Amino acid sequence: MRLEVLGCHGSETLTTRTVGFLIDDELLLEAGTAASVLTLERQRKIDNVIISHAHLDHIKDLPFLVDNRIGETDRSITVFAIDRVLEDLRQHLFNDSIWPDFTRIFNGKTPLLRFERLRPGECTQIGDFQITPHAVSHVIPSVGLLLRKQGRALLYTGDTCATEAIWEAARNVPELSAVLIEASFPEGMKHIAEVSGHMTPSMLLQDLRKLNRPEVPVYIFHMKPNYEQAIVDELRLELGGRLHVLQEGDIIQL
Ligand SMILES: [Zn+2]
Ligand SMILES: [Zn+2]
Repeated sequence: MRLEVLGCHGSETLTTRTVGFLIDDELLLEAGTAASVLTLERQRKIDNVIISHAHLDHIKDLPFLVDNRIGETDRSITVFAIDRVLEDLRQHLFNDSIWPDFTRIFNGKTPLLRFERLRPGECTQIGDFQITPHAVSHVIPSVGLLLRKQGRALLYTGDTCATEAIWEAARNVPELSAVLIEASFPEGMKHIAEVSGHMTPSMLLQDLRKLNRPEVPVYIFHMKPNYEQAIVDELRLELGGRLHVLQEGDIIQL
């Protein structure tokens, strides 16, 4: 698997972008950043998008990604997400008020936008990928997921604070080759992390103990730009060379 980091921060600035990962040029994991950094040609290759939860930093580029497909023949973008996320997208975004309801606008015989439901704990096949979402602990319903393809597996937490199910699911996956885990705030902001459903370094380290796979590399994302250096310094002390700090433009081969 080839994972390209389009955006990996918890907010947008001149040099940081919100969350979006492009896998094998075709599967978009989160849509916080996509249309704003990809050429139209590269956007055309994306047919499937997975959204963990409906917060703006994970959906912001979706309206433009779909809009840029108007006029293509018989091609849809399919969004895979849990029920609550699909409801929120229908009700608050693609509602013919904020943006058109693209599920009712067609390219030929095909709607521009389709919604497919993910169910926590159940595996869904998306092209060559097997995706199993698991509920995580955020301020709104949200999932992390195990993503498998051709004998490799990736664990992605989405936005979460201390959580359980996803670690249990991943602990005994022998082909697990990387953990992408959010790290939003430094330790001194633990109160804000707790009320907003995010990780600090100590919470992250405690959750990695639940996974109990010390050989698996750890990639952090969703750092709040103001506090990135503090977060990295605190984690580096404990994780050393196991820690990788994702940056926009990175490409990871798994
Ligand atoms: Zn969130
Ligand atoms: Zn977020």
